[in-house]
Amino acid sequence: MSLRLQNKVAIITGAGRGIGAATARAFAEAGAIVVIAERDTTTGPAMAAELKSLGAKSLFVETDVAESAAAVTVAEATLGAFGRIDVLVNNAGINVFHEPLETTEAEWKRCFAVDLEGVWHMCKAVLPSMLAQNAGSIINIASSHSSKIIPDTFPYPVAKHGLLGLTRALGIQYAARGVRVNAIAPGYVETDIARDYWNTFPDPDAERQKAYDLHPPKRIGRPEEVAMTAVFLASDEAPFINAASIAIDGGRSVLYHD
Ligand code: NAP
Repeated sequence: MSLRLQNKVAIITGAGRGIGAATARAFAEAGAIVVIAERDTTTGPAMAAELKSLGAKSLFVETDVAESAAAVTVAEATLGAFGRIDVLVNNAGINVFHEPLETTEAEWKRCFAVDLEGVWHMCKAVLPSMLAQNAGSIINIASSHSSKIIPDTFPYPVAKHGLLGLTRALGIQYAARGVRVNAIAPGYVETDIARDYWNTFPDPDAERQKAYDLHPPKRIGRPEEVAMTAVFLASDEAPFINAASIAIDGGRSVLYHD
């Protein structure tokens, strides 16, 4: 029996740690060839080495998704090494949280450069080869912030709302040409990005507990839980799922609050 992603070539951005790292491991276990497109030159190569030690084919390409030239480089390196690109997981993202009027222009630009433009750079770089082979799956890691607003987290939700728009626009545009574009919208997930946010409060443990209490199962998500959904969307088990967003938040997004 073949594995769910047998020999599929996948690029995963920001795969050095957190959700991206869990996704890289899950993809490799499912039989994929994984290209680690990561800006960190310590965690990125370490992840590629880990996957190789498990018997998977993997390649690290130093990539800052904010640079469009870097996106082209990683796409070319992938095609050069493996001949095709079947899957792109746009996972790299940063939290930029401010009160709106206190947001500097530099902070606004930093947020959009990674969380929205970075995704577009990567899509632009891989789409020609996906369209040429009439097949491809792009998975964008969005957020609960893609559909809801939490005060003082500006402009992150603006970029993440835009990411849903980008997902839908590209999903519709290329649906008849074999390319599916979907989003995953996690609630809180236990990674550095969440821990760093709690650490901005005087009592980080209280903030962590608040995050747990926000989710109906009274816990937050695990990176592996996002990774499993990415494997599904990348696989041939989801051929009619397109321009969709799948929430992974224990039901938080449908819970009524007054
Ligand atoms: P994380 O632990 O901070 O990991 C993010 C990874 O992306 C890091 O390896 C980071 O590299 C890399 N990265 C950041 N900017 C990059 C860039 N410009 N180019 C290439 N790589 C870059 O974050 P995470 O929690 O795994 O988050 C992953 C995604 O999930 C993000 O898009 C985030 O918005 C989304 N998300 C997270 C949560 C959550 O609660 N954790 C919830 C909803 C959505 P460095 O090590 O160099 O920083």
